[in-house]
Amino acid sequence: DVTGLVRETAALLHRRATEKEMTIHIEMEEEVFIRADLNRLKQVVVNLVANALNYTPNGGNVWIQLEDGEEFVQLIIKDDGIGIHPKETQRIFERFYRVDKARSRNSGGTGLGLAIVKHIVDLHHGEIEIASEEHKGTTFTIRLPKHG
Ligand code: ATP
Ligand code: MG
Repeated sequence: DVTGLVRETAALLHRRATEKEMTIHIEMEEEVFIRADLNRLKQVVVNLVANALNYTPNGGNVWIQLEDGEEFVQLIIKDDGIGIHPKETQRIFERFYRVDKARSRNSGGTGLGLAIVKHIVDLHHGEIEIASEEHKGTTFTIRLPKHG
């Protein structure tokens, strides 16, 4: 139940969003079901939404969009935050890689989140793509096969 998972994630991170006066917008259909490891998938969504909150200045926005297809489900997690320079976008899925240690130091991360996300998406035979523009925002698009 991917819609349930999205709602749970938003609830889990609600306090963090409120602290930063940020809004999480959710756009999805009523029911979306796929065959997947629920806890692993939750780790993916939590990591991406947590990043969107961390790397967006106060007052910003996060969008979670879920689209149901015939064979695939598409999950889009988008923010209007600091963005990532094109030179860095290919490296951010590497373990321990963090863009500009100084600017991300205060968020206290380890640089493992996206490596884990990529690994879990791979295990589900899915795909993940990133589109980002500095000072504009970042969009992660995940496509997962519905039948495992
Ligand atoms: P953690 O292991 O706690 O998740 P982290 O957030 O630093 O630590 P990743 O989630 O792997 O590690 O992200 C790697 C780097 O990619 C981040 O340090 C940050 O520089 C950049 N990044 C990730 N998501 C975003 C985003 N939505 N907007 C801008 N930069 C991002
Ligand atoms: Mg992270």
